[in-house]
Amino acid sequence: MDKIKMAAPLVEMDGDEMTRILWKMIKDELLEPYIELKTEYYDLGLPYREKTGDKVTRDAAYAIKKYGVGVKCATITANAQRVEEYGLSQMWKSPNATIRGILDGTIFRAPIFAGCIKPSVNTWKKPIAIARHAYGDVYAASEYRVPGKGKAELVFTDENGAETYRQTVYDFEGPGVLAAQYNKDSSIESFAHACFRYSLSEKMDMWFATKDTISKQYDQTFKIIFQEIYDKQYKTDFEKAGIQYFYTLIDDAVARVIRDEGGFLWACKNYDGDVMSDLLSTAFGSLGLMTSVLISPEGHYEYEAAHGTVTRHYYRHLKGEQTSTNPVATIFAWTGALRKRGELDGIAELSGFADRLEDACVKTIESGVMTGDLAALCVGVEPKVVTSGEMIARIRERV
Ligand code: NAP
Ligand code: MG
Repeated sequence: MDKIKMAAPLVEMDGDEMTRILWKMIKDELLEPYIELKTEYYDLGLPYREKTGDKVTRDAAYAIKKYGVGVKCATITANAQRVEEYGLSQMWKSPNATIRGILDGTIFRAPIFAGCIKPSVNTWKKPIAIARHAYGDVYAASEYRVPGKGKAELVFTDENGAETYRQTVYDFEGPGVLAAQYNKDSSIESFAHACFRYSLSEKMDMWFATKDTISKQYDQTFKIIFQEIYDKQYKTDFEKAGIQYFYTLIDDAVARVIRDEGGFLWACKNYDGDVMSDLLSTAFGSLGLMTSVLISPEGHYEYEAAHGTVTRHYYRHLKGEQTSTNPVATIFAWTGALRKRGELDGIAELSGFADRLEDACVKTIESGVMTGDLAALCVGVEPKVVTSGEMIARIRERV
């Protein structure tokens, strides 16, 4: 069989720890035997980010703008412990936050369905996709520790240098903490458009929630912008498609999500999406079965697994143990990117191969062959727990 040829390259972003190990196995065993893989490679592993002063991350984001499609391995977000572990010169920003900052856009996460893996919330009969506004708020906040007694103020100076607003945040009587966060109408608007479009294309209801009763300017702005865009541009199409837009308070939304049967897109503000996507993916099975794609307003795509670098497994791997780390979400990151590349470049074989590889993953799990994270969730078949290497080999047999 001839290998499938690619036209434009994918932006390939390598990562850290256990997922970096999986990354290479997936390329060697599941991609390169079938595709003449064309990628522009960026090493986002922490040592190389340190070496380049994190320039490699920004370069990768601009490459996605140039080529349109990227695939990313999970990466370490540096914290105090990592600074010590890797001897970092500074606590580098999360690569995902840097890339989102450059591309703007919305992250959609959806669970991978395998017949033998039942959600732990037994009312859920259909997938719940989740959209995370990938811009601003606490992820781009300015914050510091307040050293002691003094006044904290929020000041806005307009472009002509005139001070338009000055508001006392708090008169500190002692040490404390302070943060200021922001968002932009333009980013909220493009988030709303992305979500309404996704709902329409997937024919799913859409839910959105904020805390507008408490946050009377900040969250209220999100609510108003969504409603205006819906009324003006999507209401008719939603009604035609027989789907609904539903707004409620965030605490009401979380209660309803548990009682509902699913089958909708849940649009979330940045922090809500961060937290709720982990909750949903765990409840739908495993983090190893959750896919993630960032779609920018310009129509650029970045695919990845929703989970992190699976550090605990990596430390066992370093001791020479075989681990049973689930490679499926990382495989789906590749298939998502390859399918999109195929669509954009008109290469049907490439998209067809992505379908075939995904199908092989799901059928392998449904046959009972799975990694340890899925075994406890499996119903109806006797699970046979395999190592990551065996899992990939069994998927390859099916391909
Ligand atoms: P994590 O890597 O997602 O792992 C948390 C736990 O979930 C694992 O210890 C494992 O549980 C289970 N798990 C996750 N993915 C799995 C898979 N594919 N197969 C089997 N089990 C899986 O999250 P974390 O431990 O909080 O973070 C580790 C590192 O990843 C951190 O440095 C963090 O900054 C980074 N991170 C990166 C991204 C990203 O790049 N998008 C996202 C999140 C976190 P058991 O140990 O119980 O088996
Ligand atoms: Mg999270």
